[in-house]
Amino acid sequence: MLWQNLKVPSDICDFGDAVLRGLGQDGGLYMPQTWPKLPQMDDFLALDFPTRCAEIGKRLLAPEISPDVVDDIFRSAFDFPLPLVDLGQNQWVLELFHGPTLAFKDFGARFMARILQHVHRQRTPDRPVTILTATSGDTGAAVAHAFKGLAGIHAVILYPADRISQLQERLFTTLGGNIHTLAVAGDFDHCQAMVKACFKDASLVKQTGLNSANSINVARLLAQVFYYVEAAAFFARKGLPAPTVSVPCGNFGNLTAGLLAERLGAPLASFIAATNANDTVPRFLREGTWQVRPTVATLSNAMDVSAPNNWPRTAHLLADKPTGWLRGVAFDDEATRHAMRQLHARNGYVADPHTAVGWAALDQVRHANQHHKRPELVLGTAHPAKFQDRVSEILDIAVPLPTALADALEKPNLSQSLPPDKDALRHFLQDLPHIQAGA
Ligand SMILES: *Cc1c(COP(=O)(O)O)cnc(C)c1O
Repeated sequence: MLWQNLKVPSDICDFGDAVLRGLGQDGGLYMPQTWPKLPQMDDFLALDFPTRCAEIGKRLLAPEISPDVVDDIFRSAFDFPLPLVDLGQNQWVLELFHGPTLAFKDFGARFMARILQHVHRQRTPDRPVTILTATSGDTGAAVAHAFKGLAGIHAVILYPADRISQLQERLFTTLGGNIHTLAVAGDFDHCQAMVKACFKDASLVKQTGLNSANSINVARLLAQVFYYVEAAAFFARKGLPAPTVSVPCGNFGNLTAGLLAERLGAPLASFIAATNANDTVPRFLREGTWQVRPTVATLSNAMDVSAPNNWPRTAHLLADKPTGWLRGVAFDDEATRHAMRQLHARNGYVADPHTAVGWAALDQVRHANQHHKRPELVLGTAHPAKFQDRVSEILDIAVPLPTALADALEKPNLSQSLPPDKDALRHFLQDLPHIQAGA
């Protein structure tokens, strides 16, 4: 499968190179150049989840990655449950949050980590790989768990000391080994500025083999296509019409993956982009003008993005679709709380604030569009326990922690402190054991 830079069309590469590079020339995003024709989605509908992923993945990644490697990667990356929960009234939640860090980002991060390790071994075995990323909480945890224990790769994760919840911190600072967590005496912007400065330092990038593993990487995008196929298979097997899918959106990676799945042939009827008060895309879809306002903090903070970095990909996939095929809906915090309470009272379902935004969007679009009787699907992007304090306060119930998370709270925090200074970070990177060993 060849990938083409949306900004520089002459920049075309295979999947492995796109994974190693992250961004293309001029900061452009890679998208499939040609669309592999999957024989018949029907042929895949009877398989179980990992087998279906592997069968489709083999076709997408052949001949670059051999079938048995693809098989291994899917089986080890997606080794947690993916329940589709019936809410009643023809509504369903696809719960994407049963991985180690309780949010859908585990799918993309775990798949990417394994693909990166494989491509690196094949193409650049003599070079080190160092994953460097700054986090305000969630991404860092997914990346830390995904790369934990992978030979030859070290991951360094910066976060603002004392500015993330203890629960968030314990999710990724207790792992040790090849995972290095740095508590920076500053805020998230300091962390991000330090990371950016290191990526601009060409000799450091080369010496340490820096890679960002962020959400624009094609491996993360491709991984997310598979759970949409899974949902489509579920409805098709039940003999139900293709569903309308509502996606809680921030950087629009998740929605882009859904549109990709549809383009490959997964039976999905139409999409809804659900956002919080950071509503650049819903306003754009309604009014036709792209106007970015300052980002505001909300209850669904993983969606607090006003300039979504995957939007060029979404726009590319919308080019040949009729208007209205993707609808955009935005909700403020009050509407989010209301949706959480309604969903709990009406359907007995406890949703985190992100998932609740997606569910509220289904309701709104149905009211505007009374004739349609399609099943409705919302993607559950985070486990309610991940936002324990908010959820228990809003719903006035106890929200128990899953065992893995409760256990992590008992383990020691292995983070080192770092001043908000890029040279301190540079020295830390140069002193990592795999860099020293290669020097
Ligand atoms: C990252 C995240 C989102 C937003 O996903 P995008 O792919 O950035 O649009 C939504 N919900 C949760 C819980 C997240 O962690």
